Amino acid sequence: MTSPLARATLQVDTRAQAEVLDITPQVEEAVRELGMNQGVVLLYCPHTTCALTVNEVADPDVRDDVRRALWALVPAIRFRHIEGNSPAHLLAAMLGPSLLLPVEGGKLALGTWQGVYLCEFDGPRSRQVWVYPLAASP
Ligand code: ZN
Repeated sequence: MTSPLARATLQVDTRAQAEVLDITPQVEEAVRELGMNQGVVLLYCPHTTCALTVNEVADPDVRDDVRRALWALVPAIRFRHIEGNSPAHLLAAMLGPSLLLPVEGGKLALGTWQGVYLCEFDGPRSRQVWVYPLAASP
């Protein structure tokens, strides 16, 4: 197969240096836009200082706790990277740039309390999340 993989692109403008953003509605919209019914969707974040994860969205204190706790994990070592944002690179590496999520009946198949988060570690910036439909069937 030589045709390029279909892709939807989410634009996410972050507003703080460190932020955990619920992007579940945008991902759901992308799943609709891609015409997926059943399958798996790959979310890929093409950046080195932000990451993707799935976690509780019901209580907004959870995202704040996660954000603060992640920053507390940054070790007190002397970073050499001249740009000065090595903690952001470290946290992005810890969480990773991608997620595989199931799609059932045209919607993300998430647990009751789950949502999709973009974790910004070096904002504010304009970010993208690429959404690829995998193994989609009509
Ligand atoms: Zn850097």
